[in-house]
Amino acid sequence: MKVVVAGGAGFLGSHLVDAHLDKGDSVVILDNFCTGSPSNIKHLAENDRVEAIEVDVSEHVPDLKEVDLVYNLASPASPPAYLALALETMAVGSEGTRRLLELSERSHARFVMASTSEIYGDPSEHPQRESYRGNVDATGPRSVYDEAKRFSEAMTFAFHRTFGTNIGVARIFNTYGPRLAPGDGRVVSNFIVQALKGDPLTIYGDGSQTRSLCFVADLVRGLMALGESSITGPVNLGNPDERSVGEIASLILSLTNSNSSVEYLPLPTDDPTRRCPDIAVAKRELGWEPRTMTEDGLRVTIEHFRSLLAS
Ligand code: NAD
Ligand code: UDP
Repeated sequence: MKVVVAGGAGFLGSHLVDAHLDKGDSVVILDNFCTGSPSNIKHLAENDRVEAIEVDVSEHVPDLKEVDLVYNLASPASPPAYLALALETMAVGSEGTRRLLELSERSHARFVMASTSEIYGDPSEHPQRESYRGNVDATGPRSVYDEAKRFSEAMTFAFHRTFGTNIGVARIFNTYGPRLAPGDGRVVSNFIVQALKGDPLTIYGDGSQTRSLCFVADLVRGLMALGESSITGPVNLGNPDERSVGEIASLILSLTNSNSSVEYLPLPTDDPTRRCPDIAVAKRELGWEPRTMTEDGLRVTIEHFRSLLAS
């Protein structure tokens, strides 16, 4: 297969690229490196089945030929990144998604949209099923990301209904693992870097808000299962192992053997109070479920950051 990964130099995208190359596919990466890094794909420099094109997909998508599968992972994903790149985030969710859908349509390629659990906002249904319509503040600071992804989903389904485009929408819940950027600002990378450096762990609010953490290898397997299937979704991909942020901090302190203290900082506006995926659809339609225990995935991620900080 010839696979296009928009956002392929990012955290999730670079693992997805590796997995498709391992399968024998060829891959074209489209990335403007606004939050991704050349270091995530530098190990592929000598691989003649991969091509990396530096491009802002909101502005332009090359007219690639004989494409079988297009993944749209292009978007800032960490809250500090999308707050700093507010208009770029809205542009890539709208114009970028439209241009990538047009590429899929021209090539008769399947299109997989990396949407998010942020579709559910601060949820009043728990755990979240795909049928839940969400509780998003349309004008709050997080809306630049949430509404861009909601628009992406709407655009993806509009292409499907108008042109019959072969689509699949994944709603990804918090995912972590090696290649998260150390300064990315997400909870797992922040806590691990702080614990390894002996700095205080910054808990926002009282730490009672929950997240369900999925290890990257599991998530990539789910995205590929969606790519290989013919279902439209939307389908939740995530690990239902729900923990409070306070528990995540304690776990990381214990797994790193760190003496760091904990510092409580203000909770960001509209920070969702709880989040846990119902993955019945993914189990039934894709035969997918996560396999990695949170403790095991965190150990692997800690080792990655330990060697990164030592280098
Ligand atoms: P990331 O920031 O590491 O990766 C995003 C990639 O997209 C980066 O390489 C960035 O440079 C690229 N990009 C952004 N705007 C672009 C543009 N206009 N043109 C070309 N490239 C562009 O984040 P990630 O965690 O790897 O997330 C990947 C995708 O998965 C994102 O769309 C994100 O919304 C979605 N997602 C991730 C998670 C998660 O927990 N990691 C959860 C839900 C959804
Ligand atoms: N969080 C925290 N300290 C940090 C970073 C994040 O307490 O240093 C909290 C954040 O407020 C949220 C949760 O951890 O409740 C997950 O944050 P993240 O940015 O990783 O992802 P989100 O689910 O908010 O998009």
